[in-house]
Amino acid sequence: MEKNYLAPSAALFAAHERFKESKLSKPRLKHHQLVDLLTDHSLGGRLEVATVGRSTENRSIARVVFGQGPIRVMLWSQMHGDEPTATMALFDIFNFLAAEDQQFAALRQQLASQLTLWFIPALNPDGAERFTRENAQGIDINRDAQRLQTLEGQLLEKIRKDFDPQYAFNLHDQNPRHHLDGKAAHMTFSAPAYNDNKSLNKSRTAAAQLCAHLFEKLAPWAKGHVGRYDDSHCHRCFGDHFQREGASTILIESGHKYADPDKRHIRRLNFVAILEALAAIASGEHEKQDYKAYREMPENTDGLHDLIIRNARVELAGRPCLADLAIDIESQKEELADGFEYRGTYVKIGDLSGQHAYRELDAEGLDFVLGKTFPSAIEQIDELNEANVLTLLDMGYTNLRVKAFPKGKNTSLLPLTLVDAQLHRPCRLALGEQANFTLQKNGKAQWAVVNGFVLQIAGNDFVDFTKNKLNLKHL
Ligand SMILES: [Zn+2]
Repeated sequence: MEKNYLAPSAALFAAHERFKESKLSKPRLKHHQLVDLLTDHSLGGRLEVATVGRSTENRSIARVVFGQGPIRVMLWSQMHGDEPTATMALFDIFNFLAAEDQQFAALRQQLASQLTLWFIPALNPDGAERFTRENAQGIDINRDAQRLQTLEGQLLEKIRKDFDPQYAFNLHDQNPRHHLDGKAAHMTFSAPAYNDNKSLNKSRTAAAQLCAHLFEKLAPWAKGHVGRYDDSHCHRCFGDHFQREGASTILIESGHKYADPDKRHIRRLNFVAILEALAAIASGEHEKQDYKAYREMPENTDGLHDLIIRNARVELAGRPCLADLAIDIESQKEELADGFEYRGTYVKIGDLSGQHAYRELDAEGLDFVLGKTFPSAIEQIDELNEANVLTLLDMGYTNLRVKAFPKGKNTSLLPLTLVDAQLHRPCRLALGEQANFTLQKNGKAQWAVVNGFVLQIAGNDFVDFTKNKLNLKHL
């Protein structure tokens, strides 16, 4: 039988919306949500769903099976609990595989007849529940491939031995600091090494060819944003271990895109990439790739900041000087009822030429003015509205004291920094300090930076990084 390549990436990209699992919209995935969705798929009858193990805290870990073909392919996601993007994409793929449309019938048929797919969505459900990288023991499962001290790691190894996959996919999220020559890394791929020399045997070559294939296929939607992830050998890591045991193993790292905090675009790229990879394996398409193309893929590096202010005239330790300011916005560990708090702080000060950020502002010709605190305190935060917030920012006030400070509420995405009327201290420009300032012209704010987020003030208009910032309703 002629094995044509049947995964037109444009069609898959366009169709993602149709298959997207609408019950998973926020990256915080709870175990019960996944269990409910898997139950539905099990009843649907097109996918075979089974519980194959239990986590340290006794949460079920599922295996989803599709196809009866000769090539065994295993995919697992979220062994790091705070890396959920691929899990969401796998549920989109489950919808795709279970669907009956004509458009993709031939591809589905080819996957089913050539491949036997074993999916393990969310291998670390305890970490997913608390949104930590590690499992409930505090162990990084992806460093446990040799010692096998975690139930989750033991399960993964048992599945590998039982199934003996020819191909394996290790699905992760990478941190938002990764970039490719200044462009945010949306997706990166690697063929983990099985020894320190990064030798290429037959099975690792196939993995490298798959990476090169994906690099090519994703280019139309993410040109310049796709690359290779570091493939230095790590003997205690699972991908490297699988590669050593003879499975052609591919690491897929979901990165970040500017102004896409819920990673919708990245999830879509995952959907396309994983189906492209499966279609390639089913048809042998990737074997046409020169493995050298893998080496030529650009490797991502660390250090992409959220914001760089260039050419600011500032005072540092009492000395006036010219400086660039890099600001990173990090989510805080503790989750509040209405989500994670963010904190934007200065992380570098000085000549930052050659450094990159998601967003840059040139302060040339503008006055850098540290954020001021409005002199009188308001009683409650519901006294705020968009008009009075703009008026305050316009006058250079970035901080507002509140008598009844809303404890336990996430105020970090608001366009003003709320401070407890009792505990306030003035804004400072120094490493580690919260980034609150305005860039002014003739005493009028043109831009405000509040907790690291940028707001354009000129023209009385908010233009910003996250939609949340525009929305005062949840006050
Ligand atoms: Zn990871």
